[in-house]
Amino acid sequence: MKIICIGRNYLEHINELNSIVPDSPVFFMKPESAVIRANLPFFYPSFSNEIHYEVELALHVSKVGRNILLKHAHTYYDGIGVGIDFTARDLQRKAIMEGLPWEMAKAFDASAPVSEFIPVRDFDNIHNIGFGLYKNDELVQKGNSSEMIFNFDTIVSYISRFVTLKQGDMIFTGTPAGIGPVNIGDQLEAFIGDKKMLLCKIR
Ligand code: MG
Repeated sequence: MKIICIGRNYLEHINELNSIVPDSPVFFMKPESAVIRANLPFFYPSFSNEIHYEVELALHVSKVGRNILLKHAHTYYDGIGVGIDFTARDLQRKAIMEGLPWEMAKAFDASAPVSEFIPVRDFDNIHNIGFGLYKNDELVQKGNSSEMIFNFDTIVSYISRFVTLKQGDMIFTGTPAGIGPVNIGDQLEAFIGDKKMLLCKIR
């Protein structure tokens, strides 16, 4: 499996990073070795001094697909959860300045804690899903799927023009404003609505 991550999908987050609003979805990937499940801790890696959290709604891909038409896109995911797109911001910044790919800043081992998935059918309206992230009991990020520049179906259809989606793949759909650093000893908790979905302790 793989994780496909969308960048720049919430306006306030684009502004906080002084990025440009994209014409089409921006995506990158994390490999299977990036996944942390079952609320296991994140061990702060030695190669970075500036690991940032980014909480994101995550789609669970339910079947194989490529060149998926927009009108069929909703049939290719069956669950929605939350993930954290851990980012080595110092390495990413350096790579961007040097005009190099920033894969190492995003795709490193354990850079993607992910929750269980709630069946899509259990949501009243997937285009109005509130979610948030607490760091040490303080709300640091809050978003809603209604605020996404590119919605779930657009993302699925667009990605599948370039990369075949397979059952079990996950799509991280972008982070809202409020990203920031973590330190050893911190505790992150991600919610969908009032439901606690994910716990991640930084060790
Ligand atoms: Mg992200």
